[in-house]
Amino acid sequence: MRLKSIELSGFKSFAKKTPLEFASAITAIVGPNGSGKSNVAEAFRFVLGEQSMKSMRGKRGEDLIWNGSGSSPRAGRAGVKLLFDNSDRGLNLDFDEVAIERVVHRSGENDYILNGSSVRLRDIAGLLAQANIGSSGHHIISQGEADRILATSPRERREMLEDALGLTAYLYKREDAERKLQKSGENMREVEALRRELAPHLKFLSSQVKKVEETQKLQTELKEKYLEYLKREDIYLKASEREVSGEKDAPAREMKALEATIAHLRHELDSKGKTDAPARDLVELEASGRASAIKREAITRELGRIEGELEAREKLAVEDAGIPQAEALTFGEKLVSELEGALALPPEGLLSRVKTLLSLAKEFVGRVKGSPGTALKTEDLREKKKKLEGELQLVKADEERAVNAVAALRKKIESEKDASREAERELFAAMAKRSDLQAILERIAGREGLLEREKAEFKRELAEAGALIGGAALEYQSYPIEGGVEKRDLQEERHKKLERLKIRLEEAGIGGGEETVKEYRETKERDEFLARELGDLKESTEKLRALIEELTATLQSRFSDGITKINTEFEVFFKLMFGGGTASLALIKEKKLRRGAPESEEEGNPRQGDDASDIEVEEGVDISVSLPHKRIKGLHMLSGGERALTSIALIFAMSQVNPPPFLILDETDAALDEANSRRYGDMIENLAKKSQLILITHNRETMSRAGVLYGITMGSDGASKLLSVKFEEAVVVAK
Ligand code: ATP
Repeated sequence: MRLKSIELSGFKSFAKKTPLEFASAITAIVGPNGSGKSNVAEAFRFVLGEQSMKSMRGKRGEDLIWNGSGSSPRAGRAGVKLLFDNSDRGLNLDFDEVAIERVVHRSGENDYILNGSSVRLRDIAGLLAQANIGSSGHHIISQGEADRILATSPRERREMLEDALGLTAYLYKREDAERKLQKSGENMREVEALRRELAPHLKFLSSQVKKVEETQKLQTELKEKYLEYLKREDIYLKASEREVSGEKDAPAREMKALEATIAHLRHELDSKGKTDAPARDLVELEASGRASAIKREAITRELGRIEGELEAREKLAVEDAGIPQAEALTFGEKLVSELEGALALPPEGLLSRVKTLLSLAKEFVGRVKGSPGTALKTEDLREKKKKLEGELQLVKADEERAVNAVAALRKKIESEKDASREAERELFAAMAKRSDLQAILERIAGREGLLEREKAEFKRELAEAGALIGGAALEYQSYPIEGGVEKRDLQEERHKKLERLKIRLEEAGIGGGEETVKEYRETKERDEFLARELGDLKESTEKLRALIEELTATLQSRFSDGITKINTEFEVFFKLMFGGGTASLALIKEKKLRRGAPESEEEGNPRQGDDASDIEVEEGVDISVSLPHKRIKGLHMLSGGERALTSIALIFAMSQVNPPPFLILDETDAALDEANSRRYGDMIENLAKKSQLILITHNRETMSRAGVLYGITMGSDGASKLLSVKFEEAVVVAK
């Protein structure tokens, strides 16, 4: 990386755009007093990001802007642009040329521009620090400030040395890490506060959710229990229905049949009791029998009379002829035997036999008396008898028919009476059976009624289950159940359990469950997110702490290494400048009251017994010198020239150890005598091997070492003008 040019426009006395090219390793800027040379050095400070107005000899931004003169109006802004050849990528940007520009407006506002793009000061500072162009300005030694490094405090000196050793980049990194650490700390506290805020709500929600979960568990249990209960009940009802209808079937059928039988028997009995036809028939038949008997008796009597008459007539005829004794005897004996036989006859028979015997006896008497009748009359009688006998036969047949019919009818009536008695008995038996059946059917009807009530109760319970567990209630139908009908008291036990569950559920409360769970989940997620963020922050804090520690360690080791190296060079340069003597840097630690802590009465002296946390240990760098042939030990005892020589030795030593890309020395050689000027010139040439040098000088020796010389003059308009000059011209211009 090489400095190509600087361009000033409107910056201090440079009213017009003025470019200075640095084509040589050593560029010298010469000119009379007050022509604007130092303004060039300040332009470097300005563009590299200097924030101290004092170090640019101003009070505010406006002081840096061309203020105008009679012939040239004042500028609205001051701008300085540095151009680097970056083909070696010394600056960490992928450009062959890098332009860094800073503009200050009259408002005091600053713009930083990197290759035409607006950037932040930090970006510029970071970029430059990497290329060992730090902000402490150790590589820009202003006029009269050659011994600034001697005059400054140990702490500031340390900073300059850190900068010169190229540790600024680490410092930036550390500062960056510290800033991030602080930010992380703030974020952590914020996140912790948020979590603390969330905690009671989360706890509340958690307990609510537990309740909701409990409720859900109860509901699941309720559903399970309900399904089993309903299924059991369903099984029971169906079984009962089957059983009752099974029980009812036979008796109902029997009852029906019985009713039919009873009706039939009743009808039968009724119809029997209502007809008297057989009795009438019997009376008629008996009357006809009796009529036939009377007729027969009359005919028999007539016949007997006729037979008697006939007998008498025949007897008469016999007597005429006399009746033999034997015949009379036979008749007598026959009569006796007939009479004896008649004794054994029934009354009716007896009567008829007596009558027969009577007519026999009469006939015999007639024969005995004997009247022989006329043959004619006998003949008539015989005719009549024959006729009567015929009639008798007919009447007897009628009578017999009637007697038989009466007997048959009597028998029939008798048997009918028997049949009625049987029917009555059957009716009574049927009615008894019917009342038995009625009792059975009533009992069954009772069960049916109970079953109906149970079915209605089941319906109601199903509806209630629907209200409590929703449509899932209907799932009971497919609820798997082992075994068939069980003891009823088990179901009653289930019912009790269900009721208890319902009460517990009611106590737990069902409403708002899902919303609570949702809110809990969201809150929990938020808390977990915060916890993760806190974890991330803790992790990054740890990393940052480690990084800071590592950077601090690196800084310390590099710094002490650097100091050792600078000391070696310092000693060499010092000896060279003074022709002997010794000089060295030493790391020191100073106790200081921490900024912001209560001030002690004696400034700079921490009070006894102060809180240790108020005390800050500051590491600084001290310089000790010992001049040849002089017993001078302290810096304050050195002459102006000696101070200048010492600081030059130190600046050169620093530049030697970690050469900056460029070094600007504003009249650092002003106090040197001729011999020292030559030594100074030699040292410059040596330094120029590693760093570009821009030297503002009145010193002829220094001028003679430069490859390029610029002369700056100031005209009557108060504006600086630049001209390239030759060495001889330069000597003239410089005066
Ligand atoms: P010397 O050799 O005496 O150190 P020099 O060449 O270094 O002098 P500078 O100090 O760079 O001179 O220039 C100072 C000049 O710049 C002064 O004349 C001053 O009036 C002028 N100047 C400073 N600021 C402004 C400004 N804002 N506008 C115009 N001129 C300015």
